[in-house]
Amino acid sequence: MESRPLVDRVSVTSNRLLVIDDEPANAAAIGRIARGCGYDTIITTDAEDFLSRFGTWVPRFIVIGLTVPEMAGNQLMAWLARADCKAQILIVSEREAEPLREAEAAGRALGLNIAGTVHMPLHALKTALQDIYDAGGVISVQDIKKAVANREIRLVYQPQIDLDSGAVVGFEGLARWNHPKRGAIPPDTFIPLLEANEFMTEFTGQIVSMALDDIHHLNVGTDTRVAINVSATDRGSRGMDEMVRTQCARKNISVSRITLEVTETALMSKAGLLSGCLTRLNEVGARLSVDDFGTGYSSLVKLHQLPFSELKIDKSFVMDCVSNRESGVLVQAMIGLAHNLRMKVVAEGVETEEVMEQLREWGCDIAQGYFIAKPMPPKDLKPWLLHHALRRPYQGEAGPRLELVH
Ligand code: C2E
Ligand code: CA
Ligand code: CA
Repeated sequence: MESRPLVDRVSVTSNRLLVIDDEPANAAAIGRIARGCGYDTIITTDAEDFLSRFGTWVPRFIVIGLTVPEMAGNQLMAWLARADCKAQILIVSEREAEPLREAEAAGRALGLNIAGTVHMPLHALKTALQDIYDAGGVISVQDIKKAVANREIRLVYQPQIDLDSGAVVGFEGLARWNHPKRGAIPPDTFIPLLEANEFMTEFTGQIVSMALDDIHHLNVGTDTRVAINVSATDRGSRGMDEMVRTQCARKNISVSRITLEVTETALMSKAGLLSGCLTRLNEVGARLSVDDFGTGYSSLVKLHQLPFSELKIDKSFVMDCVSNRESGVLVQAMIGLAHNLRMKVVAEGVETEEVMEQLREWGCDIAQGYFIAKPMPPKDLKPWLLHHALRRPYQGEAGPRLELVH
């Protein structure tokens, strides 16, 4: 079971690097090297743009190129100090070493976290950036490719229950990377890196295979489903539908037990590319679910054109739908919309009994969240299922539907 706050873990492993150098060619070269090392990099040549990105994007690393005129470089550092900047700062320059040393001393005197200085040429910058990476526990693309190959990434499962009967209708599989040295690394940190490096195809293949193995071993009733998160970049996996079909056949599991969750944002940005694959998977029996609904800007027409059978209301609305009138109104509207489009509604992020009761009253179909259970490793699922079947105070006429085959 998990209890550590997500945000802390995300910031600790962030690989965001903001580069400023007023010479465009230098900024571009630094950016290229940084990306090659695996940093999530934004470059800029403009101090105002730099300051605005610093505030909104919150980089963990900064490279200041000293072709930014010396004075401007110092002003920038003074500003960063006032903003209580915690980022590690690397100062680079093509010019002689002395101004670099002075800038470094000035930065330290301001209390900034100066990771070092680099006197170009660029290969020295690459080494410095890699050293910072290794020391700072940043995740590199190589690290994650190795982790996927070594099967260090596993799935944990979070139950979903029918709000009428209380019966468990399925589980959402959520990826976890248990890094041998750095401990648990949350998916929000490593999935964007996989996406940026077109590595989702292999990853999703492994996730599907793992989910099918786990559901096979769990041996629950044949109508219990498993939900898998599909990334927008899975469009690259031309054979994804084929892969899902083959794996299901090999493991003797009906494709209809699989739900593919696609975020609303992915759907809208890549709808054309994704939709063929999703439609084919739906044709062979998979259910399609719109994830994080309410956070993107859906065209309702697009939503209706694709064969979705489920709409998942984002947890940001669900969590405070009782205490916040606006969230409550939106949740009810989303339930109505989904039902009018003949879709089932899942509410994620159900953290209290009060919220669960309210959702049931509003006619929501399925609930998922910490109040019901936190995501758990597959070995904990069977005991949890038994416990849930025994304590279910909210079962409707349908009675227990849980079939456990021993
Ligand atoms: P998501 O698909 O929206 O998953 C729900 C997230 O909310 C999960 O975070 C889950 O642990 C968390 N959660 C569940 N119940 C509650 C609750 O009651 N309260 C709160 N505050 N949070 C709750 P997690 O596991 O860190 O996953 C984050 C995101 O990473 C997922 O969001 C999904 O977009 C992505 N992700 C996870 N696994 C995979 C994967 O295998 N493939 C892809 N493409 N994306 C994945
Ligand atoms: Ca999801
Ligand atoms: Ca979601």
